[in-house]
Amino acid sequence: MKTMNIPVARTSFLEEEIAAVVETLKSGWIVQGPRVREFEEKFEAYTGSPHAIATTSCTTALHLALEALGIGAGDEVIVPAFSWVTTANVVEYQKGTVVFCDIDLATFNIDVSLIEEKITPKTRAIIPVHLFGLPADMGPIMEIAGQHNLLVIEDGACGLGSRYRGRHVGNFGSAGAFSFHPRKALTTGEGGMITTRDQDLAEKMRSLRTHGAETSDLQRHQAGRPYLLPDFPHLGYNYRMTDIQAALGSAQMDHADDTHYRRVELADRYDDFIDTIPWLVKPARPPESEHGFQAYVCLFQPKTISLDNIEDINQQRNAFMDYLQENGIATRPGTLALHTLSYYAKKYDLKPEDFPASLIASLCSITFPLFPSLTDGELEYVFSAISKYDRNRRIK
Ligand SMILES: *Cc1c(COP(=O)(O)O)cnc(C)c1O
Repeated sequence: MKTMNIPVARTSFLEEEIAAVVETLKSGWIVQGPRVREFEEKFEAYTGSPHAIATTSCTTALHLALEALGIGAGDEVIVPAFSWVTTANVVEYQKGTVVFCDIDLATFNIDVSLIEEKITPKTRAIIPVHLFGLPADMGPIMEIAGQHNLLVIEDGACGLGSRYRGRHVGNFGSAGAFSFHPRKALTTGEGGMITTRDQDLAEKMRSLRTHGAETSDLQRHQAGRPYLLPDFPHLGYNYRMTDIQAALGSAQMDHADDTHYRRVELADRYDDFIDTIPWLVKPARPPESEHGFQAYVCLFQPKTISLDNIEDINQQRNAFMDYLQENGIATRPGTLALHTLSYYAKKYDLKPEDFPASLIASLCSITFPLFPSLTDGELEYVFSAISKYDRNRRIK
């Protein structure tokens, strides 16, 4: 069989999406303006959230939410130890203290049974992550937060199309943040969005997004009194998305459901296949959750993984990933064990074994190619390559 070249994610844009960008370029207005507002409105409608605020990334979206919610020096924030580095970094930006919590290896999401023991009088917030598009267990998380008077900020970077008990993620905590990086389900190159049900918080975040000003550029532009400059009641940032990016995002919102169902359809086909491979564990789909499948991440588990055999199994996984790469199929580990990154390990004096499930997840997970333009031929090729893999021949 001819070798194919299949990336983990591949962007592809419809003609009307490209046309929307070109139209914006020709319109004479390219900074945050009407296209950003249009994108936000479509995002509000799709997620059922009353307020959506576009930003330059999910990282800046989370940062704005923490700043607007007043999380600062001395505040402890509970963060899953298995996530993208951003989830913890935004707490550090605010001079807060990161308190890692281990994950449930079955879902890759924060282990709800471990949250309460992390709570101290200084705890202000929890940042649950809807990792790879699977909603975190928001029912018990909101209950714990309510009992201990904690804020909840959802890291929904991977969560477009993800629903928990029928409700789109980003609608449970005080705010939810989304990413439009090319690895995510909708992309504007770079970009992000915050959702909230709280109007005052929404206004504060809109202001902080544009230098802490009381009015936006567009409002000022349309006000017709050229001598007026806004006041800046807050110390803000420039976290504005451009109208060029928003045009691309807005056009993709028109078929967000199709994209979601296409991803789920591909995941269904992976599931059927992975069921035939005894040493790969397919992603969990708890009954109360609708997985968005930003990524299709399996656990490489030829036998029960523990801290005693993790190195050996990690080497076996890497050999499998090398084999796929040699056959033109890109894969990646799921994501990072944050407590093993040297910044966090040093600052908080953490050891790899402190969060065993997160360590196992990072060393033994594997992300397979999944994106809407993945063809039947490509998928068959991936399945056939995995089927032909002789694990024993590879292991020294
Ligand atoms: C991608 C990702 C982010 C960061 O999103 P950016 O838009 O690149 O800033 C944050 N958290 C998680 C869980 C992610 O997967």
